Amino acid sequence: MVKKFFGIFSLTLACTLLGVVNRFENVEAACDPTVCQPPKCFCPSVNPPGGLPLEKTPQFCLLTFDDSVQPDTLKVANSLIGKRTNPNGCPIRATYYVSIQYTDFSLVTQWYAAGNEVADHTMTHPQDPFDDEIIGCKKALNAFAGIPNGKIAGWRSPFLNWQPKTFDIIAQQGSLYDSSTTALIDDATWPYTMDYGLYNDCWRGFCNTTIHPGLFEIPMAAIIDDKGTPHLMDPHLDGTPDVVKGWLQSNFQRHAQQGKTPFGLFLHPAHLYQVPGTPLAPGATDPALNLAMLEEFLDWAIAQPDTWFVTSQQLLEWMQNPVPADQLKTYAPFSCEVPKIGKEICNGLDDNGNGQIDEGLLENCNFNTVVWNTCYGCPSENPSLANPVPSGGDRYHVPTTCDTVWWDPIANQCLCQDANCAYTDLSKPVGIVGENNTVGGSNGNTNPGQPNGNKTSSITSLNTVNTMNLIPSFIIASIFMQWIF
Ligand SMILES: [Zn+2]
Repeated sequence: MVKKFFGIFSLTLACTLLGVVNRFENVEAACDPTVCQPPKCFCPSVNPPGGLPLEKTPQFCLLTFDDSVQPDTLKVANSLIGKRTNPNGCPIRATYYVSIQYTDFSLVTQWYAAGNEVADHTMTHPQDPFDDEIIGCKKALNAFAGIPNGKIAGWRSPFLNWQPKTFDIIAQQGSLYDSSTTALIDDATWPYTMDYGLYNDCWRGFCNTTIHPGLFEIPMAAIIDDKGTPHLMDPHLDGTPDVVKGWLQSNFQRHAQQGKTPFGLFLHPAHLYQVPGTPLAPGATDPALNLAMLEEFLDWAIAQPDTWFVTSQQLLEWMQNPVPADQLKTYAPFSCEVPKIGKEICNGLDDNGNGQIDEGLLENCNFNTVVWNTCYGCPSENPSLANPVPSGGDRYHVPTTCDTVWWDPIANQCLCQDANCAYTDLSKPVGIVGENNTVGGSNGNTNPGQPNGNKTSSITSLNTVNTMNLIPSFIIASIFMQWIF
């Protein structure tokens, strides 16, 4: 969470000096666009998908938030979304990479029900997340925030500290994409599939060993300042508000000229508010001023031609069916119809305009040192690595036949009545092969009517191999120096 940025450029240079071959050219050479074809396979490219000419290509922007979802962090995220809209009049969209520890599940439900994306960012935000961290997060989000497993399709490594094993795990879990790698300028491509391995961060030497057909990589394009220094996450921490706003605008324009490759603003909301009673660090900018600057930038960005802030899943869906910019206002996946269901079902969608969740819908789960709210019933103990979905509670999990915005976890009822809102979760079962999965997926809780108390899910860690032993020590040192966020 704490950011100590040492400069990607200098690190890349250092590794080059240490003899690490930059091998992304190999992937580019190996990926033949006449063989690797959409919608299943995408070569890394700065050219718009589908052969769209630049003037017909939308400028997509990814606004992402990382770590636990709490009242203060969600307030920051929601203030950045604000009343800002995409060209079709719908609110701009964002993706939250959620870590479970310190998260209030009811806020995740509300974030998702408002049309945003929820992605996996582990249970406890460790340096080396293995199966139990990745799988446990997905299970807990499904059980206590009511997000269908099929909609938790993305992953970001804590500290951006991925290993080849990380991709093995998320591919096994049927994930749609990773977004943990770094891009500077030349490798700031459109998302691509890993049919020929990674194209980014190749100085780490894993580009030839990270081959996962169909798994998307959404590279995190850094903000490059006027001296050529990259700033990846929370760029506002690296300069005064006026200076950083200039960086953001000039980088946005660079993307617009470089094949309209997606522009990214990657933030930790925890850096954008001041905890009452804690003094500012010497020389630090008041977080409120940084937040105001980012809001000004967003106001400027949404006023640029054909600019859309979308979730990661929306971006990938568009890439698989690249509709020209002038037809996007009626493009169904970007629409924002709010369900009309006549009553509140605890997901934050309001029935009476008071902006509050009606009394009695939320349950408050108090585990002494940990307190959170949920619509899905308090379990007998706080979710943990050993048991991410403890039993208990008398509410009903979201079934595989209903999406969160239609699911009433108290009445045990899916309020979707027609084909337009029908949803079937076809995702792979979540968990380690052979374990007793009872959460979501195609072998999960398919019947509305199974209260949480019937669940018996638990997982066993398979983390018996320390793959850090397999990595040259100078690379480990570099990783720890660079990605302390
Ligand atoms: Zn994080």
